[in-house]
Amino acid sequence: MKSLNARVKLVLIPDANRPVRHYNVPKVLFVATPALIILFALCSAIFILLNSSHLQQVEQLQEQLTLSEASYETLLQAREEQIAGLESDLASLSRQAAEVESKMTEIAELESQLKEIAGIEETVIPLSDGQGGEEFALASTDAETSLVSETKESFLQMTSMIDEMKPSLESTKKALIGYQRILDMTPSIWPADSRRVTSTFGIRRDPISGRSAVHNGLDLGGNRGDPIYAAADGIVTLSERDYPHGNNILIDHGRGMETRYLHLNKRFVEAGARVKKGQLIGELGNTGRSTGPHLHYEVIVNGDHVDPMPYIKEDRKEP
Ligand SMILES: [Zn+2]
Repeated sequence: MKSLNARVKLVLIPDANRPVRHYNVPKVLFVATPALIILFALCSAIFILLNSSHLQQVEQLQEQLTLSEASYETLLQAREEQIAGLESDLASLSRQAAEVESKMTEIAELESQLKEIAGIEETVIPLSDGQGGEEFALASTDAETSLVSETKESFLQMTSMIDEMKPSLESTKKALIGYQRILDMTPSIWPADSRRVTSTFGIRRDPISGRSAVHNGLDLGGNRGDPIYAAADGIVTLSERDYPHGNNILIDHGRGMETRYLHLNKRFVEAGARVKKGQLIGELGNTGRSTGPHLHYEVIVNGDHVDPMPYIKEDRKEP
């Protein structure tokens, strides 16, 4: 206690003209003051150090934030580019869907025409409602969603059209095969290479007797040995030589249709042979009751001779 209460005399000499001052200061204060000053300095140093460390951390965090922002921007830009690409793909897909749909409609119409040609009962193929697929402005998400649903709808409609068209096309194909068969069996080509008609079907003055008589065929002038062709698919029912027909061939084409070729130089097919349209069956000649080399060509429908001209519609196709 004694040491704490001890006092220290402090003498202050301002300058030579002023009186000297004396202070009695407790000894404890004299010792504690420097200690307090040191303590304060230490605390200040620690505070400054801590503060500086925090500042560094804040700076680091700010740097990280800037980097993250930059990376996010890059990612966002890439995503936007991807979205733009997808939008463009979608628009292109939608255009393609519209094109395919339009082509399918054309095919359906074509099939309907084929059916008409082949004489098949028309079955109505439900076609999709015409929708304008021309607008592809993708201004909003709504427009994109609408385009997606329209494209989906287009594809669904096309799938359904294909499903409905398949059996219909199958029956059209069968009918067309049948139709082609009938065409093959119907006389339609020139039976000789010559296009020189020397006598038409009907009443004419007979070149030998000079009297009016019915000419039941068509005469085509030509040279002896010129090729003679079957006018349609069929079966040879007669191949012989007689008077007045000379060398002659009769072909049955079915469905009551026959053709006959008279005054031939040579016959290349016998009775019972199957012949194809355009097949070489003989040579043009001057046999039987004939005044010069020519083909007398007859078309017989249900036993009656008819004018062959309406049955000569096209040139023979090379087999
Ligand atoms: Zn004749």
